[in-house]
Amino acid sequence: MTSHDLNLIGATDGTFIPDEPFRARHLIGGEWCDSSDGATFERRSPAHGVLVSRSAKGGEAEVNAAIDAARKAFDSGIWSRISGKERATIMLRIADLIERDVERMAILETLESGKPISQSRGEVGGAADLWRYAASLARTLHGDSHNTLGEDMLGVVLKEPIGVVSIITPWNFPFWILSQKLPFALAAGCTCVIKPSEMTSATTVMMGELLIEAGLPAGVVNIVLGYGEPVGSLMTTHPDVDMVTFTGSTAVGKSITASAAATLKKVALELGGKNPQVIFPDADLEGAADAVVFGVYFNVGQCCNSSSRIIVHEDIAEDFVARVVELSRDVAFGDPLDPVTQVGAIVTPEHQKKIDAYVRDAEKAGAKVRLGGAMLSVPGLAGEFYQPTVISGVTPEMAIAREEVFGPVLSVLTFKTMDEAVALTNDATYGLSAGVWSESIHTCLDFARRAQAGTVWTNTWMDGFPEMTFGGVKQSGQGREIGPYGLEEFLEVKTVAVRIGRTRAPWVRKR
Ligand code: NAD
Repeated sequence: MTSHDLNLIGATDGTFIPDEPFRARHLIGGEWCDSSDGATFERRSPAHGVLVSRSAKGGEAEVNAAIDAARKAFDSGIWSRISGKERATIMLRIADLIERDVERMAILETLESGKPISQSRGEVGGAADLWRYAASLARTLHGDSHNTLGEDMLGVVLKEPIGVVSIITPWNFPFWILSQKLPFALAAGCTCVIKPSEMTSATTVMMGELLIEAGLPAGVVNIVLGYGEPVGSLMTTHPDVDMVTFTGSTAVGKSITASAAATLKKVALELGGKNPQVIFPDADLEGAADAVVFGVYFNVGQCCNSSSRIIVHEDIAEDFVARVVELSRDVAFGDPLDPVTQVGAIVTPEHQKKIDAYVRDAEKAGAKVRLGGAMLSVPGLAGEFYQPTVISGVTPEMAIAREEVFGPVLSVLTFKTMDEAVALTNDATYGLSAGVWSESIHTCLDFARRAQAGTVWTNTWMDGFPEMTFGGVKQSGQGREIGPYGLEEFLEVKTVAVRIGRTRAPWVRKR
């Protein structure tokens, strides 16, 4: 395939690229600071190759100081013991400030991650709604009462903030994932230490600026910039941390569970996925084909929810794949700063090579590359891109059918019966999301009940709402985010048993 066969968007005039790199510093106890040893690290735009940000590189001293500030803030009650109304007031202000600064943050999000500017605007602007929803939970959060324990007893179950929370986030949706965690932790009354990915520090730092502007007390949220080692790792072992919430790869998620075990911290994990869309012959096939293309190329497939495999009924497989290939050619690939671009750059050259290796291995194992299957150059851009790729003839034992490729690569498998479709869906170590396409409600519900996944989309893909909880089963994670269950993650439950009147018979008998 030549690049002429694709809808390629060449370099823009670079208007959006700032003259100076963004300078990111740690936020500790309400103060912005450099690292004690002055160390920094840099991030270049994966699409343009230009320097985008220079960040303070944290070490043990910064992690300890940030955790100490969060611990003191929590124990002081300055946030953990104020009313839900007071918390909600500040959180609503933060939502307004996010909306005010969408453009400024979206540009940095695009330059650091390589994703299209339209998507960054949607991601940052949409995050304001997560803050507003979490603010509503701050006011409505309550425990239980038990008035059925007998005349002389009242039972009260209190919900309390779990304490100091370490929040560790990945590079692929930096602002959105932070907003799936932070407002819910704050609504519960927790204090936090945040470490963004070393590849995308900027918008987390900008969020810190908004928190201060909104009036969040010093020390309630602290940010330490840097790498998994030592920053992330120390945040999972420090005895003053009560909980770790992590989004990232399954391998790092497992290591966090192991390191947090020594102090028995609660651990919530949002990890990888190998998410199938299953297409039955009676489906709206045009709608399904469009959703398959969206599901695999959104964020260049660098998405935990990427529908990186489809399981299509063999009667319609040939025509359906032909339509997916046709639609793939129309998707706008190229400069993420152009507002029409739908798919941007691959995050690093190493990752680009990893994607290509999966494609080459699948070819060697007998699969057929129907479209793409190679790196892509975009006119005027120095960065990393990969062609939209469709691979048919994939069998369940191939690595490309089982592992998270994290690129714009679709694997096609086929089925004959519902049992077979369910078996293929569940033949994965992951269980994040799955999709089913059929005009029969019976088919959809039967599949939804049998699929091992945290979310099942029926006749749609990747629709989400702050009210609807998200998370994975199997090796896609543990715990849930957003929705009311997302708040519960950050709460402890305490039983208070109250005897009414002096009715308790003495335990010690008189001699
Ligand atoms: P990653 O696991 O490499 O890194 C995630 C974060 O963990 C980064 O901030 C990193 O610095 C930090 N980290 C690395 N080693 C650490 C350690 N030993 N201790 C503590 N922290 C450490 O993941 P990534 O490459 O940034 O993101 C891609 C992965 O994230 C994919 O697997 C994707 O599926 C997953 N993801 C999952 C969801 C979800 O909601 N389930 C959402 C987005 C991304």
